[in-house]
Amino acid sequence: MKIARIVDSPHAVYQFDWSPIRGCKEECKYCLTRKNFVQEKGHFNPEFLPDVLEKIDRYHPHPEQGPASGNVACCTWGEAFGPWVPREWIEAVISKVRKNSRWEFLFSTRYPWRMTEFEWPENVWLGTTVDRQGKVADAEEAFSRLPGHLLKYVSLAPLLEPIKFSRPELFSWFFISGLKYSFPLVKALADPIVEQARSVGAAVFLDWGWHLDASWDHESNPVAREIPVRNGRT
Ligand code: SF4
Repeated sequence: MKIARIVDSPHAVYQFDWSPIRGCKEECKYCLTRKNFVQEKGHFNPEFLPDVLEKIDRYHPHPEQGPASGNVACCTWGEAFGPWVPREWIEAVISKVRKNSRWEFLFSTRYPWRMTEFEWPENVWLGTTVDRQGKVADAEEAFSRLPGHLLKYVSLAPLLEPIKFSRPELFSWFFISGLKYSFPLVKALADPIVEQARSVGAAVFLDWGWHLDASWDHESNPVAREIPVRNGRT
């Protein structure tokens, strides 16, 4: 079993967001990050922020809680592994991740093959987004090339249609979500994914912080919020 612990809040997955690489050249219709950036800054162009990169060395959001440790969501304000992203940007981020081993860094991409081009330290969770069946084969093939000791996960966010994995054992964590304001987390779509995850002992996190379709019943069918284990660390 790869489940380390169960949390009671969708916000318990990570302590803070660190995004030295931002922006994206894709134009996914449902991308709220793109929408927010364009509204606030007038563009969503790829950019690298050296000052943000450096901050991770000294950042500690809760000093009153003792030594800094926990999970950091990394480069969520865009796509950090798109083909347009210079290799040096990604290597600079990985170098900081390696240096700051007190944190676990969660990455996610729609370009899983790009992740295979780099050497990763152990304190990472590498995820790839699968929102439609057509993305499964590529995600599985690419992630099968990543070193087996790394924590690998799949982000079904948003889960838009029925999805069947051929090699669910590649993933330690299935993160499943709907889409804020527009597409609920649909139980009929989520249940088969949960079954596939259970069949390989993977952890499941249903992010119903957005909204659920009407068929969810919290009393008799509480949603799963599980965090995976990696090399004995939680
Ligand atoms: S690839 Fe990701 S960041 Fe880029 S537009 Fe699509 S959802 Fe947004």
